[in-house]
Amino acid sequence: MDLQHWLGRATRAIQDWADTFGPYEPHPSLQVDDRQFAAAFEEFTGRLKDNYPFFHPHYAGQMLKPPHPAAVVGHLTAMLINPNNHALDGGPATAAMEREAVARLAAMFGYDTHLGHLTTSGTIANLEALFVARELHPGRGVAHSADAHYTHGRMCHVLGVASHPVRTDGRGRMDLDALEDVLRTGEVGTVVLTTGTTGLGAVDPVHDVLPIAERYGVRIHVDAAYGGFFTLLAGAEGSEGLAPEPWRAIARCDSVVVDPHKHGLQPYGCGAVLFRDPEVGRFYLHDSPYTYFTSADLHLGEISLECSRAGASAAALWLTFQLLPPTREGLGAVLAAGRRAALRWAELIDASDVLELYQRPELDIVTYFPVLDPPALTAIDAASARILADGMAANPDPVFLSTFRAGRDAFAARHPGIVPDADGARVLRSVLMKPESEHHVDHLHDRLEELARAV
Ligand SMILES: *Cc1c(COP(=O)(O)O)cnc(C)c1O
Repeated sequence: MDLQHWLGRATRAIQDWADTFGPYEPHPSLQVDDRQFAAAFEEFTGRLKDNYPFFHPHYAGQMLKPPHPAAVVGHLTAMLINPNNHALDGGPATAAMEREAVARLAAMFGYDTHLGHLTTSGTIANLEALFVARELHPGRGVAHSADAHYTHGRMCHVLGVASHPVRTDGRGRMDLDALEDVLRTGEVGTVVLTTGTTGLGAVDPVHDVLPIAERYGVRIHVDAAYGGFFTLLAGAEGSEGLAPEPWRAIARCDSVVVDPHKHGLQPYGCGAVLFRDPEVGRFYLHDSPYTYFTSADLHLGEISLECSRAGASAAALWLTFQLLPPTREGLGAVLAAGRRAALRWAELIDASDVLELYQRPELDIVTYFPVLDPPALTAIDAASARILADGMAANPDPVFLSTFRAGRDAFAARHPGIVPDADGARVLRSVLMKPESEHHVDHLHDRLEELARAV
């Protein structure tokens, strides 16, 4: 789609609508001179060049990519009206779009019933889930894996709830024996499981934790901020298919968070939280009767801790879902390409004599480090940092990577032969979340081999 064309259509569509209310003049205090604007705009666009090329397949670093053009058009068009999804009268159209988009997310996770809404971020979405968890199990803490996003420990602190980090296994998943040890104390009311850790993309065994959680009478909250849309590949045919069990089990968990601004092609400012039991709406109650929450006219501000929220975010997600719905054939095809890219790169690294996988990719995150003799942690750390810097500085043909800090024990669990001369080491990390990566991994791999040989 031609972005310029659709942005022109967007401004005209909103102008046509505005015109139906009759003419008016903007106030002189708001007027800016075109020449002045041109100067400011030039400086502005100049400053924006101080960025990494997140859009380019040679950017294979952090979880970053531009939104889909449909999301851009949806966001900008609605933003010209600037609805506030805090309340229905702040923007009836985008509030309805939010409910529809959230219902699609709930269907993706297999929720029969749900109460949910968009949030500004995964952080706020998780905070809401932990807030409800605290209300349902007052005085009891939260267990999450040691590899869970740091927000869980921090938000437990905000909520005045004890957090219990649980050891992970050699693939970065929560260790179930360690979990049971914590649950046996009776001090935990909620277990947070991560389907797709931010660092490694590890998937906690949700299906195995469900019966344990039931036995101990604790809630399960799933943090799928990054990995949630991989649900679309659960049980899929082909190399990109994922073992379905953990993903299907999300349908039986109490709450789940997913970030459309990560794998849902959205601009930042779009997370989502879903509760399986709509009755938890009562914990958000301020001055509305409880029946409000199950009425058809759901008032989004009544079930959210945040007040003002961009209706434009809901508009962008809704419009994107009309074209690339959260189905295996829609958005699933986008995630499948990134996953195939990760698997292909893993194969190339396996066959390489200068690079080694830190851990086999579970989703679309590849972690690797240069092969050294002896394989000492200090040397691996220094060489990884050097490759990161050299890759970025290369001219022409730069590559942009990120690093992941692996602790000594975690490293040794995966690579018993390492020389543990430090308490950890950075390894290289590439999130292949752009489908274009699929056609560039061979090149990326060649570049990485060159960079690794040079150090
Ligand atoms: C990104 C992420 C978060 C935090 O979400 P934000 O949208 O960055 O606030 C929480 N949990 C996981 C697993 C994440 O990947």
